Amino acid sequence: MMYNSTRDRSVQVSAAQAIAAGISTEGGLFVPSQLPRLTAADIEALVSMTYVERATAVLSRFLTDFTEDEVRDCATSAYTVERFGSEEPAPLHTLEDGVYIQELWHGPTCAFKDMALQILPHLMRVSAAKTADGKEIVILVATSGDTGKAALEGFRDAPHTRILVFYPEEGVSPMQKLQMTTQEGGNVGVCAIRGNFDDAQSGVKAIFTDPAVRERLASQGMQFSSANSINWGRLVPQIVYYISAYCDLLKNGTISMGEAINIAVPTGNFGNILAAYYAREMGLPVARLICASNCNNVLTDFLSTGTYDRNRDFHTTISPSMDILISSNLERLLYHLSDGNDKEVADLMAQLSEKGCYTVSDAVREKVSALFASGWCDDEQTMAVIREVYDTHGYLCDTHTAVAVGVYRQYREQTGDTTPVVIASTANPYKFSASVLRALDDTVTCADEFARVDMLHERTGCPVPTPLASLKDKTPRFTGCCDRDTMEQAVYDLLGVR
Ligand SMILES: *Cc1c(COP(=O)(O)O)cnc(C)c1O
Repeated sequence: MMYNSTRDRSVQVSAAQAIAAGISTEGGLFVPSQLPRLTAADIEALVSMTYVERATAVLSRFLTDFTEDEVRDCATSAYTVERFGSEEPAPLHTLEDGVYIQELWHGPTCAFKDMALQILPHLMRVSAAKTADGKEIVILVATSGDTGKAALEGFRDAPHTRILVFYPEEGVSPMQKLQMTTQEGGNVGVCAIRGNFDDAQSGVKAIFTDPAVRERLASQGMQFSSANSINWGRLVPQIVYYISAYCDLLKNGTISMGEAINIAVPTGNFGNILAAYYAREMGLPVARLICASNCNNVLTDFLSTGTYDRNRDFHTTISPSMDILISSNLERLLYHLSDGNDKEVADLMAQLSEKGCYTVSDAVREKVSALFASGWCDDEQTMAVIREVYDTHGYLCDTHTAVAVGVYRQYREQTGDTTPVVIASTANPYKFSASVLRALDDTVTCADEFARVDMLHERTGCPVPTPLASLKDKTPRFTGCCDRDTMEQAVYDLLGVR
């Protein structure tokens, strides 16, 4: 299977090339030229498999220039019991009949990003060996909080690899910040930026696509790649868990083969929900994709009107990993829905960067509204959901997951659609202890993050993940901060390039 660029479909690369490069040189994103099909028999065969086997089977269909042994080796190294706590890294929790929460945060950094970022370094290693020119790979990451830590943890001390992470100084939770600034490893670097996630992401993209920077790195024997969801290697492992959720529901007799489910996803950069779209396009019986936003609701508006307009206030919310106004992966959806019209996509993306908005054709808009439902929750509604879900079901969810639960409920009320739903739960609640605790009890005032963790634990009995608890005794290593304009210099400084 080959991959094309969304902005120039004459670009054709293998999976290994797409993963090693991260982004196409003209700024487009790599997409599969056609999707493998999942038949009922294929799904049936997956039901009795372990997660590692399911991942191997699904990933092999996309990574056709990898041997099956290579793929299996990557999956086996990534989804270990040691790192994910069990052989089921993405278990389903039944909230009530017909509503299933898929917990995607059992990995080492307690967010769903681990599902992809534990395997990406392995995929990258194999890809780099295949596309071999012996360069050291420099992974550059912009993060709204969770990707950064998950990427640092995934790539720490990986051979021939350096990793640099930029996060918005005021845009992450205290726990997220501590996770990154205390990161261990000899090949890692972390820097705050004065600005929001969009500034960090556009800064990273600009550095990536600047030929002068690329040359300067090449002269040092280095080459950039990306661990953001612009990298195909980030998206493809995410397709696996939606297919796996369907298999789990089949296995425990909740649904029968061919029966449709809906999938609800708390969305920021449109990566996670795009993976669900790919699973659907492959033939997984999925009816509606429910896209949930916080009050940075640029996607809600786009999905309901066909106009994407980032010219609006940026809000800092209690679900910071979704505080995004430029959702990069939408570009891939537009490419597929316009039947691979690279000119149209390039034109829309040029409009986005020039005036901050664009409107898709009627044909694309109609396809979008057939596939997606959308909605959003503000912070107050999100906290009400956390409280209500805890009081009613004894289940503690984080702020991002709560946004998805809230939007799913709005959807069900508006449509009466009671199709079984899988809701992606994207983070452990202790990553956002202050907000979760306040949702349960708004009289609590407490300034210390770890005291809040303890209080939340006393109140709910919900176990505190060891990787978060152990941060208490660590001292920050990385305290630097730069501006959007000085990111390039910060990269050279962190790499020791002069
Ligand atoms: C990254 C993240 C999201 C958003 O996922 P996208 O793939 O960017 O849409 C939602 N919740 C949490 C906890 C995250 O870390």
